[in-house]
Amino acid sequence: MSLTATQTKVHNFSAGPGILPQEVLKQAAEACINFDNMNLSLLEISHRSKNYEKVMEEARALIKELFEVGDEYEVLYLGGGASLQFAMVPYNLMREGGSAAYVSTGVWASKAIKEAKIIGTTNVIASSEDKKFTYIPKGYQIPTDADYLHITSNNTIYGTQMKSFPKSPIPMVCDMSSDIFSRKVNAKDFALIYAGAQKNMGPAGSTMVMVRKDVLGKTGRKMLSMMDYQVHIKGGSMYNTPPVFPIYVTLLTLQWLKKNGGISWIEKVNQEKADCLYNEIDRNKLFFGTVAKEDRSNMNICFLLHDVKLEPEFDKLWKEANISGIRGHRDVGGYRASTYNALPLESVKALVEVMQEFEKRFS
Ligand SMILES: *Cc1c(COP(=O)(O)O)cnc(C)c1O
Repeated sequence: MSLTATQTKVHNFSAGPGILPQEVLKQAAEACINFDNMNLSLLEISHRSKNYEKVMEEARALIKELFEVGDEYEVLYLGGGASLQFAMVPYNLMREGGSAAYVSTGVWASKAIKEAKIIGTTNVIASSEDKKFTYIPKGYQIPTDADYLHITSNNTIYGTQMKSFPKSPIPMVCDMSSDIFSRKVNAKDFALIYAGAQKNMGPAGSTMVMVRKDVLGKTGRKMLSMMDYQVHIKGGSMYNTPPVFPIYVTLLTLQWLKKNGGISWIEKVNQEKADCLYNEIDRNKLFFGTVAKEDRSNMNICFLLHDVKLEPEFDKLWKEANISGIRGHRDVGGYRASTYNALPLESVKALVEVMQEFEKRFS
């Protein structure tokens, strides 16, 4: 397939790995052949080369710039996915004999809790499991003697999102994998933010960790090198060979975001996309939304048909309209439209049109 061939426009609502900007994909493809005018591929040069060190430096600096934080924070790009952070967070932050507090808001939070329990005392202080994770728990007490509080900002599978964050008296850790840089957050309220890149800021293969240095080095445990944030910080995120290509494509994606107007721009666009689709879900007689209205995610929009027998008909219609990736997660069923940063409003409008046409034909 040639890069110059005209591609059919596909409206890509994939939940993850998710859509990336077309221009980023083209730049990434170019770097596979000729990176930085070296006449070498990015895939075949040393991560210690000057040209790559610049990529790593910029990729780390841009995170701090977008989050508006200073040198009290360090940024790392690590392998192992967000799932490895489920283990690294308690391993690095929970003291020997200490404890951690977790808010359970879905499948990913539950997996984080499972790992933390292996490291030490882990208390689930709030949960929405009673209603199948269809809302965000509120008004819970945060224990002041726990080593940290862990939350998940956006529930990728069930489609809920924290619209505001708890005021935490202890260091707050957040898994932002599926809504990082989708809206303004006060990053200084967090001791540690992590995100697998493949939902909203790059391709799979690298995970961003931003950590405030003062919370590290206090566990009293003998640390495995690869599991130790301080080892990676000392190595400039190059203690071992980093995932060079995913980091580069993440950098390109963040540069695309910055160039187009940054977080304040994308927050507006994301709100417009979400409003457009939720309005149709609420208006259309054939569909309904699955989560509490005030907790609806602007990134993963879940909806069901009142009459599941109509699913094959609806599926036919959206596939004909070149829509891709809206089948719901196997735990929820129905539909999930992921409206990550790189998804244009025009794609949401295409989906809304299909829903309207479907209503005309089947109600
Ligand atoms: C996808 C996802 C993960 C898991 O990410 P991996 O990189 O596959 O380990 C964790 N947390 C959230 C919120 C996610 O959406």
